[in-house]
Amino acid sequence: MMTGDHHGMLDVALAQLDAVAKRLALDPGIHKRLRQPQRSLIVSVPTLMDDGQLEVFTGFRVQHDLTMGPTKGGIRYHPGVNLEEITALAMLMTWKCSLMGLPYGGAKGGVDCDATRMSLVELERMTRRYTSEIILFIGPDRDIPAPDMYTNEQVMAWMMDTYSVQRGITSPGVVTGKPLLLGGSLGRREATGRGVYYILKAAAKEYGMAFKGARVAVQGFGNVGSVAARLLHEEDCCVVAVSDHRGGIYDPKGLDISKLLTECAHEGSISQHREGDRISNEELLELDCDFLVPAATEGQITEQNADRVRARIVAEGANGPTTPEADEILAGKKVVVLPDILANAGGVTVSYFEWVQDLQQYFWHEHEINDRLSEVMTAAFQRVLALSRKERVDLRTAALMLGVSRVAEAKKLRGLYP
Ligand code: NAD
Repeated sequence: MMTGDHHGMLDVALAQLDAVAKRLALDPGIHKRLRQPQRSLIVSVPTLMDDGQLEVFTGFRVQHDLTMGPTKGGIRYHPGVNLEEITALAMLMTWKCSLMGLPYGGAKGGVDCDATRMSLVELERMTRRYTSEIILFIGPDRDIPAPDMYTNEQVMAWMMDTYSVQRGITSPGVVTGKPLLLGGSLGRREATGRGVYYILKAAAKEYGMAFKGARVAVQGFGNVGSVAARLLHEEDCCVVAVSDHRGGIYDPKGLDISKLLTECAHEGSISQHREGDRISNEELLELDCDFLVPAATEGQITEQNADRVRARIVAEGANGPTTPEADEILAGKKVVVLPDILANAGGVTVSYFEWVQDLQQYFWHEHEINDRLSEVMTAAFQRVLALSRKERVDLRTAALMLGVSRVAEAKKLRGLYP
C-alpha cells in the first residue's frame, strides 16, 4: 500500500518524521514502524440519493499508532479525500496526542464526497452506512472519531446512534464532538478555535507583542476559524480579514465578527456580507497584519506566496497549511509559526475531556473545561518553546520531537510482539 505511491501531504509527513528521527537518533526499527500506519481500512459507501439514483462513495479510516491507547481523530467529508491524505493526517494526530500528553494514538477518517451539495437526508444515509462499514474498527476503547472538515455535531450524533443501535447499547464514548444532550461536552464546539486563541495569547506575550489592537487575518470561517476570530475580536484584537471557500472580506478598521457569524449561520457563507472590500483567499494570506490564522485547509502557504506573508505570527488552525518550503522562507523572514500539532490541539484535548466525562458519566462545568484547556495548551507551548531554544530548532521541529519521542519511548517499553 505505502510503496512510493504517496504524494503531497503524506510525503511531507514522512519527511518530517525522517528529519526528526535523525535528530532524535531514533532506533531504526521504531522509526520504520512509525512510518507505516498500523491499520488502514477502505470501504465502499453505497448511498441512495434523493433523486432515486445510487451513488457509491469511498470511505477511509486509518489508525496510525495504537501504542499509547485507543486512536483518536476526525472524520472529513471532502471531494478528493484519499488514503494518502488520511494517512498523513492520522500520523499528525499521533504526534499531536502525544505532544499534548493524551492517552491516545492518532487516527483519521473521511469520505470522498461533496457534502455541500448533499441534502441532510443524503448525508444521514451516507454517514450511517459509512459508520456501519467501519463499525468493527471503532469503539470507545478502540478508535474514537470526531468532527473535521464538513462534519459536525449532527454527523457525530448519527455515528453514535448507528454504533449504539448495532451494539444494542447506548455508547456515547464512541465519538466526541456530539451534541450536549447525547453526552457531548461543554466547550467542545469551540475548543479548537479557543485553543488557537490561547496559544496566540501565550505566544504574543512571549514575543512581546500587544494583544489588544493586534491586526488579525483568519482564513476559513468554519468551526475553527470562526471561533478563533470571535474570541480574538472579543479580546480587542482587530480582525481585519476573514474568508471562506467563496473568498474573503477585508476592512483595515476591523470587521464586525458577530454580524458575520449571524450571516454565516443563515446563508452558510460570509459571501453576502455588504461591508469591507472583497479579497481572494490568496490576498488574505498576504495582508499586512500581526497574526495570520490559516484555519481552512492544507497547503495554503507555499514557496509561491510565503515570501509575501507579512504577519509576524502564523497560528496554524488548519492541519498542514504551511509546506516545508514555506516554513524555511518564513523562518528566514523571522515569522514565528505556531505549528498545527500545537496550535489546533485544543479540539482533541477537549475531545479527551468529553470521552473521560462519557466514560465516567460525570459532567464538568464549562469553566473547568476552559481552565483545563488553557492550562494544557499553555504548558505545551512552554515545553515546545523550551525545547526549540535548547536545540536551536523552529517550533514545528521542537513540537514534532516531543510528539515523536514520547511514542517512540512507549514503543520501546512495550517491545515487539511476537
Ligand atoms: P469546517 O468545515 O467547519 O470549516 C472549513 C472552513 O474553511 C469553511 O469556512 C470553508 O468555507 C473554508 N474553506 C474550505 N476550503 C477552503 C479553501 N480552499 N480556501 C479557503 N477556505 C476554505 O472545518 P473545520 O473543522 O473548521 O476545519 C478547518 C481545518 O482545521 C481543517 O484543516 C481541519 O483538519 C482543522 N482542524 C479542525 C479541528 C476541529 O475540531 N474541527 C481540530 C483540529 C484541526
